Amino acid sequence: MGDVDVVVVGGGQSGLATAHALMRRGLRPVVLEASERAAGSWPQYYDSLTLFSPARYSGLPGMRFTGGDLDRYPRRDEVVAYLTAYAAHLDADVRTRSRVTAVRADGAGFAVDLDGGGTLVARAVVAASGTFGCPYRPDLPGLDRFSGQVLHAAGYRNPEPFVGQRVVVVGAGNSAVQIATELATVAQVTLATRRPVRFLRQRTFGRDLHFWLKWTGIDTAPLGRFVRAVPTQPVFDDGRYRAALAAGAPDRREVFAAVEDHKVTWPDGSAREVDTILLATGYRPDLPYLANLGAVDAAGRPLHRDGISRIHPGLAFVGLEWQRSPSSNSLRGVGRDAARVARHLASHVSRI
Ligand SMILES: Cc1cc2nc3c(=O)[nH]c(=O)nc-3n(C[C@H](O)[C@H](O)[C@H](O)COP(=O)(O)OP(=O)(O)OC[C@H]3O[C@@H](n4cnc5c(N)ncnc54)[C@H](O)[C@@H]3O)c2cc1C
Repeated sequence: MGDVDVVVVGGGQSGLATAHALMRRGLRPVVLEASERAAGSWPQYYDSLTLFSPARYSGLPGMRFTGGDLDRYPRRDEVVAYLTAYAAHLDADVRTRSRVTAVRADGAGFAVDLDGGGTLVARAVVAASGTFGCPYRPDLPGLDRFSGQVLHAAGYRNPEPFVGQRVVVVGAGNSAVQIATELATVAQVTLATRRPVRFLRQRTFGRDLHFWLKWTGIDTAPLGRFVRAVPTQPVFDDGRYRAALAAGAPDRREVFAAVEDHKVTWPDGSAREVDTILLATGYRPDLPYLANLGAVDAAGRPLHRDGISRIHPGLAFVGLEWQRSPSSNSLRGVGRDAARVARHLASHVSRI
């Protein structure tokens, strides 16, 4: 049954690593990618973004991240070029400009509906659509009464539009601290967090953190099953972010207690006029096309064990945060989860 062995939804690092793993199992995946190129969300990340892992730890299975110093931290555009080359090297059936609108149960397999019409019938489906399409906006006191600009980090590219502004960046993760520090060079910036920012030293005893994560086995430890709520990742720091916060650029405060017009009031009662509130508050799995399958809970979180759906054995997920281990949603870790999912689906597909 089925026109296709496996449909992979999403042509980013997760979808491409999955296609690679499925092909190694002798399956014929079709990768459906909504945008015009198979490089995931990387082309949309902010201009100054560099990988927090060195090149030597950042390759997907089957193709190393080469060129130059392997201890360098590749820039965003280098990652885009790497993923584009990886997709070409894969020689898989990758169909761009193909947005999946719904996945429906269809006999022992699935019917996959495409935006603009058309349906593919597949024996299995892998959801590898990332999180970038679903920015998380927490309920913050009074935010709906703010008359300035409210922006999510998903829409941030560079500091240029914020020159001379008064900005509050909300969040305590890597994006929040990186963006706030970058903005503080051209604007008055406060970083608003619920808790103090936690830092992870980028280098210890002359080695990058990723060396130690690998050496200790922490990176691949199957801890995902024990993680109920995804924790905010500590901030990878070579010293510059800790120094910037210590110097008050940006300054750090607890999240505001109230907002009215342009005024933000802090928990200690002091207040400040603000032009922009930038929410660097993370993302959630972007899975609207699974709504009718019963495969996600009321909050939109996938119901799975190690990436295999608890509801449909022919449905799997790749690229979820803490899907199986701390490195599950990273370039260096996604291949391991993809291989696991491919093993399961190869066995499943052979039985239907
Ligand atoms: C700011 C930021 C910095 C990061 N830095 C690092 C880092 O340094 N190192 C690291 O390892 N990880 C990093 N990550 C985490 C992770 O590696 C990236 O988020 C990565 O882009 C995730 O890859 P993905 O393939 O799972 O999702 P994405 O890159 O988001 O790709 C998903 C793809 O699915 C497509 N899609 C979505 N919905 C549909 C649909 N319905 N139909 C068809 N296609 C669809 C999208 O167009 C997209 O191309 C970072 C994340 C962010 C947000």
